[in-house]
Amino acid sequence: MIENIPLVDLQSNYLSLKQSIDKAIAEVINQNAFIGGSGNKYVQKFESDFGNYLDIKNVVSCANGTDAIEIALQSLGVGIGDEVIVPALTWISTAESVVNIGATPVFVDINESDYTINTSLIEDKITKNTKAIIAVHLYGSPAKIDDISAICKRNNLYFIEDCAQAHGAEFNHKKVGTFGDMATFSFYPGKNLGAFGDAGAIVCNDENLAEISRQISNHGQKNKHNHLRIGRNSRMDGIQAAVLSVKLKSLDNWNLLRIEHAKHYNYLIDNKYKKPKIDELNKSVFHLYVIKTKNRAEVITELEKNNISFGIHYPTPLSEMKIFKHFSNCPIAIDVCNSIISLPMFPELKKSQIEYISSVLNNFNNN
Ligand SMILES: *Cc1c(COP(=O)(O)O)cnc(C)c1O
Repeated sequence: MIENIPLVDLQSNYLSLKQSIDKAIAEVINQNAFIGGSGNKYVQKFESDFGNYLDIKNVVSCANGTDAIEIALQSLGVGIGDEVIVPALTWISTAESVVNIGATPVFVDINESDYTINTSLIEDKITKNTKAIIAVHLYGSPAKIDDISAICKRNNLYFIEDCAQAHGAEFNHKKVGTFGDMATFSFYPGKNLGAFGDAGAIVCNDENLAEISRQISNHGQKNKHNHLRIGRNSRMDGIQAAVLSVKLKSLDNWNLLRIEHAKHYNYLIDNKYKKPKIDELNKSVFHLYVIKTKNRAEVITELEKNNISFGIHYPTPLSEMKIFKHFSNCPIAIDVCNSIISLPMFPELKKSQIEYISSVLNNFNNN
């Protein structure tokens, strides 16, 4: 029996940095520096490290990537009665956060080519209540950033980048997260840069927006016991920050490995499957490697038979979920959700594993 190939392998990722990570965690424990907020030196260090990495002025850490989107929207003053444009295909957080601040997500269909938001459909959905567009750099691949920026300028809307899947991705040689009015990151363990628990961040160049986000994420405090607004408890833990500072040093190398794996998959897998494009100016960091096939059920059976793990990101477009009351017809998203498969993708994936997975896919006769 062939050993199972996992979709992601967090254990071998940890082992590759075990000594430095264990040391960093022990240090936080010895210093009792558990809770984040402005006084925690490990949290401050990660905020500064990540700001330097992205080349952005402000990083405001928080508890997770979903909170990050909510806090960004609140900081921009988006709230009850407002509409926010969101792609039909993304993880639920992108729209859930909009609902949780009292606004309405308005779904827009995706491109057939890269599955990010179809910018040619956005302006039809703009009303007098529209306040912002959230673009998602899905699977690590930058959305059409220049089109979205232009639409936001023309219509006086805020541009928020959801970078939860795209740490280190680049558009025209500049990191995503630096184009919008604000951007949000998740450091959920399975992301390209992942903590050992939940963690997230809001980033922006504007000092005032950063200060508001910082207050909201820590009980509305400007400093201790000085509550200037109603906020919440959404802080990054010291342990998560220390782990993230260690792992950040390897992020570029891990992303390079992911891109190499994607190139290898693309080269080996038959053209009967639709494969992702690899583009220097629109640099994906392959959080996920996703193929498309009309025979998904059969292909999945074949993968299972051969001990290859897979995922579906995602099985249902948000525009089709009853929990979101705003109706929007997004046929491309429906078709894509019915035919995509995410193949194993993580830095430590071996060339031989990619070859094995590709041969299983190619040998399967799905004419
Ligand atoms: C993971 C993810 C989030 C949410 O991040 P959490 O840290 O899990 O809250 C938001 N948007 C997208 C696109 C994601 O993939």
